[in-house]
Amino acid sequence: MSARIPSLLLGFPLLLAPATLALGPQDSAQKTQASHKAQGSHKAQGSQTTPVEPAGPTSSPLVGNRLPTATLLADVPKLWRKGFASIQAEDCRKWLEVLSADDMEGRATGQPGFEKAARWVADRFREFGLEPVGENKGYFQMVPFAATQVASKTSWLALLDNDGQELLNIRVGRGLGGRITEASTKTMDFVFVLAKKAGDVDADKVRGKTVMLLDQSEMGPYGRTKGFVALMRARPASIVLIDEKQASLDPSAARSVRYTGGRQSQNLSGRCRRPNRYALTPGAAAQLLERAGLATHLDAKADGGTWAVVGFQLKTHIEVETKAVFACNVVGMIRGSDPRLSKEIVGIGSHLDHIGIRGSVINNGADDDGSGTTGLLAVARAFSMNRTKPRRSLLFMAFCGEEMGLIGSKHYAAHPIFDNRRMVAELQMDMIGRNEEHARTKEKAEDNINSLHLVGTQKLSDELHQICLDANDKYARFAFEYDEEDVFSRSDHVSFAKKDIPIAFFFTGFHPQYHRPTDTVDRIDFPKLARVARLVYAIAWETANRENRPKVDRTYTEVMEAQRAKRRKRQRK
Ligand SMILES: [Zn+2]
Repeated sequence: MSARIPSLLLGFPLLLAPATLALGPQDSAQKTQASHKAQGSHKAQGSQTTPVEPAGPTSSPLVGNRLPTATLLADVPKLWRKGFASIQAEDCRKWLEVLSADDMEGRATGQPGFEKAARWVADRFREFGLEPVGENKGYFQMVPFAATQVASKTSWLALLDNDGQELLNIRVGRGLGGRITEASTKTMDFVFVLAKKAGDVDADKVRGKTVMLLDQSEMGPYGRTKGFVALMRARPASIVLIDEKQASLDPSAARSVRYTGGRQSQNLSGRCRRPNRYALTPGAAAQLLERAGLATHLDAKADGGTWAVVGFQLKTHIEVETKAVFACNVVGMIRGSDPRLSKEIVGIGSHLDHIGIRGSVINNGADDDGSGTTGLLAVARAFSMNRTKPRRSLLFMAFCGEEMGLIGSKHYAAHPIFDNRRMVAELQMDMIGRNEEHARTKEKAEDNINSLHLVGTQKLSDELHQICLDANDKYARFAFEYDEEDVFSRSDHVSFAKKDIPIAFFFTGFHPQYHRPTDTVDRIDFPKLARVARLVYAIAWETANRENRPKVDRTYTEVMEAQRAKRRKRQRK
């Protein structure tokens, strides 16, 4: 699941990840406010909540997630019973222990751990006998990514006088730092802001200007100060922060990894391309302000305010070295058995990447989305075990770059291996191994043992929604919840929905370990993970085998337009 950031602050996160990868560790709590009002009323819509019969003694205290007994297995059609029965919690545990182990380094796209994980998943696809439909008869669809690194010796910021004479030069790593990733040479007029409170930012003076900010205002929401938020609202062209902590982050020591597919102006993920943001140590800034005759503002008793600097300019010169890095979607196929219908495809997806190493801490990403990728493996192996295949083909996809803005799936949808019109549905598993838990709403894990979020199925195709309800009633008996529709745009399925492909997104919900180093394998509820995988397997079987593909009742554009209209109506009330 990718993170969400308030749009105002996009491009200006204060937290600098070591590799400036993705969006920075976000506060998980803010994402899940207001999402649980619908509890109860929406629970179990169209579905029975009868707990499944326990399967005899088990080490798991989670009775609700014990897998069905032999009697229940007998209800599974013989044609695909073997595959269904093959999905077992213990195999899932073995796979996820590998995917979320420390030596996979949190699987961040562009880091060595991701490549290792991709090769391991490809090996599993080979082991299960999936058809390699990637490049060069392999399992990889390569996705173009590059890492850039700032050259410290030739990157600097200087103070110039009116004649262009250099008065002071501050090099990267020696007083100049911040989040600097783009090559650039610029000479700019600048404005100095001493923000003791939000009102010290004069919006008219800073709009479109380069702002040197000494921020002494108090902390506001989202870990940003009130002065900083006021400055962002005024839309400066660029900023030079005076901040010891940020300036001491040497950009030449960090790699910035990003997608390089598509034209520069149309990068698939606008979120990964951000303007440089400079930071000076207070020491370097004091030297500079002194030379520019602004030193009085550094006095502890100085008043806050905004000053246009006359007679001086700032010049920045940044050089970067760029090299390509390994990134791919791992793709494998099981051909359908019907000569005509096998041209159509049911897509099954998860994201392989996570947020990697930050600072020196590994974010293992066991639930996000090691669990979904484990489910993907379980479903792929299950289909490979039945002698008879469903009529349509199945495409298994483990995406890269999801945490950086759904990049792998966007890349796939823009460069599909099989025409998008041939994909009849996409089923996504992202975070399927936990019991939802929120301190703020007092929602406890033990109350959610039996619950699963079914997201997005009521948007494009009523038929796919019905398939999900029926399969759940027969083979899984989860209490479906529909109170997390907000996450519809936050995982890879949306890249397919945008192509008007019906989607179903399976999600066991947020928890306090979301996007934290504590999202580890010991917290995973494996019987539940296997139960979700069995459900997805049953839905995939039905979707792939029925005569007609799920009808598209509403296009993505129509769905979004209806949603906007609803929001407008609500606001008017
Ligand atoms: Zn995530």
